This record gives sequence, C-alpha cells and structure tokens, in this order.
Amino acid sequence: MQSKLAVSALLSFSLVLLAQPAAAQSVDTLRSEAWDQVDNAQASLIAMSDAIWKHAETSLNEVQSSEELAAYLEGGGFKIQRGVAGMDTAFVATFGSGKPVIGILAEYDALPGISNKASYRKEALLEGAAGHGCGHNLFGTASAGAALSASQVMQKNGISGTIKFFGCPAEETVIGKVYMAKAGVFDGLDICLDWHPGDVTGVGFEKSRAMNNFEIEFYGQSAHGAGDPWNGRSALDAVELLNHAVNMLREHVKPSTRIHYVISDGGGAPNVVPSYAKVWYYVRDLTREGVEETYARVLKAAEGVAMATETTHKVTLITAVHSYLLNRPVSELLDRNLNAVGAPDWTEQEQAFAKAIQAATGKEEKGMFVGVKAMPDAEVPAQGGSTDVAEVSRIVPTAAMRVASSPDDAPWHAWPVVACGGMSIGHKAMLTATKTLSGSILEAMVSPELIAAAKAEFDTKTDGKPYKSPLPEGQKTPPLGN
Ligand SMILES: [Zn+2]
Repeated sequence: MQSKLAVSALLSFSLVLLAQPAAAQSVDTLRSEAWDQVDNAQASLIAMSDAIWKHAETSLNEVQSSEELAAYLEGGGFKIQRGVAGMDTAFVATFGSGKPVIGILAEYDALPGISNKASYRKEALLEGAAGHGCGHNLFGTASAGAALSASQVMQKNGISGTIKFFGCPAEETVIGKVYMAKAGVFDGLDICLDWHPGDVTGVGFEKSRAMNNFEIEFYGQSAHGAGDPWNGRSALDAVELLNHAVNMLREHVKPSTRIHYVISDGGGAPNVVPSYAKVWYYVRDLTREGVEETYARVLKAAEGVAMATETTHKVTLITAVHSYLLNRPVSELLDRNLNAVGAPDWTEQEQAFAKAIQAATGKEEKGMFVGVKAMPDAEVPAQGGSTDVAEVSRIVPTAAMRVASSPDDAPWHAWPVVACGGMSIGHKAMLTATKTLSGSILEAMVSPELIAAAKAEFDTKTDGKPYKSPLPEGQKTPPLGN
C-alpha cells in the first residue's frame, strides 16, 4: 500500500513537474515573442501616437484619430466595422475566430482648450486648440499595438481565438462606451482589458462612481428688464432657485453623494428677462441606486421651481453610468504581465523634465513615478469620478491598469499631461502598456482556467443578472460634436 501510494505520489509529482514548467514556459515564450513584435513596431507606434497627439480631436470629432487606429489594424489583417452604435468615430476591429474572445479597449479623444507643446512650460502649440490632457493618444495607440502584436504571435503559433479591439470615442464626455454597451457592441466577450495613462504605474483595483449627467432647460417669457418686468417670467430665476434648492439638499444626502453643476445658458443681456436658461448637472454616488435616489429628488425640486417661477422645463439625461465592477482574476492577469514587463526606465533628462513641470505647477519636485505599485489586496472604494468603462465591466469581466505618463502629482486634464504625451516620457509609457497588454491577451488566449475563474467571480458578483443600460429605452446617440 505504502509503496503504491508513494509511486502514485511520485507520479503525480512528476506530472506536476512536467506540466507546470511547460505551461509556464509557453506563456513566457509567447510573451517574449509579443515583446519582440512591439520592439519591431516601436517607430510606427510612436509615429501614430504623435499623429493622434497632433490631431487632438475632441469627443465625437475624432475622425482622423479613429482612422489612424482603424487603418493600422486593417493593414495588419483585422476586419473593421466602422460607425458602430450610431457614432461615426466608434469602430470594432476583429482578428481570428472562435473562443476565447478577448476584448481590448481604446480611447482617443482630446480635451478642449489645453493645447501645449511637448515642453516643460505651459505654452500652447495652437492657441485655444484642444490637447491630449488625458493621454488618450497613448491609450489608443498602445491598445492597437497590443492587439496587432498579439495577433501576429497567434498566427505564428497557430493559436485559435478572437481579439476584438474597441475604438471607443467620447470618453471625456462619458458617452462612447455607454451607447456602445446599450447597442450590445461588447456582447459575446470572455474578458476585456483596459488601461489608462496616469501619474503612477500599477493596477489600482479601484472602483469608480456611478453618475447621471443631465441638463435641465427652463422656458419663461421675455420682457424689458426695467420697462415691463411684470410681464416677464425669468428662466434664469428658475435655474438660480433650482441651484439654491439643490445646495440646501446637500445637507440631506449621504456623504458619498456628489452633485455639481454649471449654468450653461443664463440669458443674453441684463435688460432682457431671460426666456430661456439651461443648467447642466452631474449627480454621482457609489452605487447606481444612490444616484437614482438623488436624481429623483433634483427632478422633484425642478418641478417645484417651475411652478414657483411660472416657467416650464425639460430634463435631458445625456449619459449615465454604473460604478465599476472589479474582477480579481483579470486584474491579476494585468498585474502579472505589467510586473513581467517592468515599469518604464526614466533617463536623467526625463526626470529633470518632470521636475521642471512640477516646479512650474507648484508641486514637490519628485520627478516621475518609479517602479510598479503593488496591487491592493482588497477592492479600493471609488476615490474620484466616473468612467464609461464601468459599463463594460458590468457586461464582461474587465480590468484596468495605469502606466505613469506624466509627473507624479502634477495636475491631470491639464498641460503637463499634454506635454509629456508628445515626447519620450509618453512614448515609454505607451510602449510599456503595449507590451503588458499584448502579453496579457496571449496569456488569456491559452489559459482557459483564468477565463473560467474570471467568469465565476463575475457571475457571483452580478448574481447572474443581465446588464441593463442606465439610459432610458430608445435614447438616441448624441449628435456629432455635441
Ligand atoms: Zn482618460
């Protein structure tokens, strides 16, 4: 008995010995083949990133930027479906066939008014123009580079499966993926990979806030401000009264709630009672339910205000998102591959460039973040805003990582990000992300147990309930350039 047990133990031990290194080595080999492809493609990836950086097209206007990426993938054998979900600049690029189906997200919109040279000073490249203050030129390019290099390694090694690259416009307005999700564009994926430029490198494992983004328009009656004000019914009064009501409401909502607004139209001239005024609101909370609750109370206040000011009003829900549903197995996949690639290695000149930016923005001169930050053991609650990637995370197991592309702690959505995104700091971040994502795609392609674990966690967290868009039925995609 004993010897039989010993033999069987020895047998299984040798099987483990045989199986594990072989599997591990094959992933390592695939990864290094992908990295070689990325090294070979380095010059064209940098050129594409710089081209998108110069185009600097804002949300839903990304005509040239989306075409740069689509043409690159089409040239590499991907099939392109343009104009998905009713948006001209949204596209899907597909390679291969059958299971597993690995998705990868790309963004490429810029932010208005923050054009900057690739300089350590604030100096516009084109006065008043848009700039890549969120590093989406790096984002789109790295995702495309990863998809193409992974597809080349799959072809070479006869690996079956599908890569689906999602060209997602209008992230800055939190619109692209919301409408793509509603149209079913992300259906049928096994897992989905995402990344974003940042000021640190690592998998943050952090949730995001749910949000409703909506406008309320008020319609009143014009009159002369001094001549016959009694004939006037001021739409601006309605907006001001609503904002006052909401500011009082702040005392009576949960501490997790965030409400912010701007008056986007407050009338034309002081001597004309405004017959039209518009206020633009965001309501955020940690959960969808929390957002719905506060949203309903703001709408109730708007009704009361309309009655008080004898105006009429119209509410338009522009976009809405869930909170991010984190997935541990997919996050660990990215974390493993990021650590395998390693953080960008900054030169002395790059550190000096970063410190000069920190000095110019009144920040401590720490330079660029060095190394890979450890992935947290537990889920990190939402620290800031919202993302439309949250919608994808509610459809398919999804994870994201960040790679430092801008000086540690320097302002985001601002000129430092634009500046670094157009020079070697941004290029290095982009190439690190490209390698990490290509390695992750390939590892997922040959690891059915990883996909099963990701799905099992996803099913537990969603309780098997299908995705439901937070937008009302029949909501149209916002018009181009909105
Ligand atoms: Zn962004």
